[in-house]
Amino acid sequence: MKRIYLDHTATTPLDARVFEAMRPYFSEIFGNASSIHSFGREAKSALEKARETIAKAIGAQSGEIFFTSGGTESDNFAIHGVALAAAKKSAGKNHIVTSAAEHHAVLEPCEILKEEGFEVTVLPVDSNGLVTPEQVRNAITDKTCLVSIMHANNEVGTVYPIKEIAAVAHERRVVVHTDGVQTLGKIPFSVKDLDVDLMTLSAHKLYGPKGIGALFVKKGTELEPMIHGGGQERGKRPGTENVPLAVGFAKAVELAIEEMQTEMPRLESLRSNLQSQIRNHFPPAIINGHPTSRLPHILNISFDNNKIPLQGEMLVMNMDLQGIAVTSGSACTSGSMQPSHVLLAMGRDEKTAKATLRFSFGKSNTEEDVDYVVSTLKQILQRMTDG
Ligand code: PLP
Repeated sequence: MKRIYLDHTATTPLDARVFEAMRPYFSEIFGNASSIHSFGREAKSALEKARETIAKAIGAQSGEIFFTSGGTESDNFAIHGVALAAAKKSAGKNHIVTSAAEHHAVLEPCEILKEEGFEVTVLPVDSNGLVTPEQVRNAITDKTCLVSIMHANNEVGTVYPIKEIAAVAHERRVVVHTDGVQTLGKIPFSVKDLDVDLMTLSAHKLYGPKGIGALFVKKGTELEPMIHGGGQERGKRPGTENVPLAVGFAKAVELAIEEMQTEMPRLESLRSNLQSQIRNHFPPAIINGHPTSRLPHILNISFDNNKIPLQGEMLVMNMDLQGIAVTSGSACTSGSMQPSHVLLAMGRDEKTAKATLRFSFGKSNTEEDVDYVVSTLKQILQRMTDG
């Protein structure tokens, strides 16, 4: 059976070139990057080269890149690290501003900090998933120590006006963190131009290995470590460095940046073909996400639940049986399917949120895939409506 992967926002396969770049660092070049002998120095040199490549790709200095285990850790590190540093410096700095459409890796650390006495303002988003700089400006108080708003949303693809948000936060000397997990290698940017203080990155969304990410921390930003026990990553994130994964991350970033100019317009055209075909065949379908400020490879679409009593997960399972991997607008929480918090925040009702599919395109996808998805979807929806 034909198998079509359309869930590149969840993860991507490792690029063969990335695998080849990593390979020697699992075996021949195995030293501990903190050892001073030649084995260690070889590993250290590869690690620093990887750091430099990633820094250069986002317009940072290599000393501003801290390797972590992935996006989740980087988000936690940024939020707890800045909050703790601010609280240590001045007892009154205990307010954080974030948005309702953030990834759980941002929302949950904020919830934990709330239990520890921090105040958290969760800004509502509009029907396109957007937060405006004005909302951020109005939420900042003298107590605010951190604004954390994502660069682009992983469910609906909306890209946020981070540069403008950073500008209003900086007027009040507030530190700005953004989650760039979904934007690295997808849209061009530089942290200098965005003027953010911290940015979360992850390798496995751009054909790199799982289990490695980074946190960009602008020089001079005060950040407390979350874990202790060694001097690695300049004491901010101790633990023996994972050199093969860092090398793979850097190679993946290098390739993504190199190929972005040709690959992203290609994916955007696949996305737009799928979007118009679905809209033609199922007219009440709603496109979720900003009409223009949206990542090129994501299509998040809700079907009319009044006509078709759809459960997204049933659709996902039926598509899977036909070899197509997509995601629904619900997530499994405590054993039951809960509608996406992002879609609810955008004002979709529970029924609509549940009747939602997210398609995210990547390197392996073609025009034929789009046609196959549309004809399969037609058959499945026909079957579900009939009976
Ligand atoms: N932030 C965003 C926006 C994401 O999409 C994801 C992954 O889905 C994460 C953070 C978590 O990244 P990781 O899987 O590397 O922990």
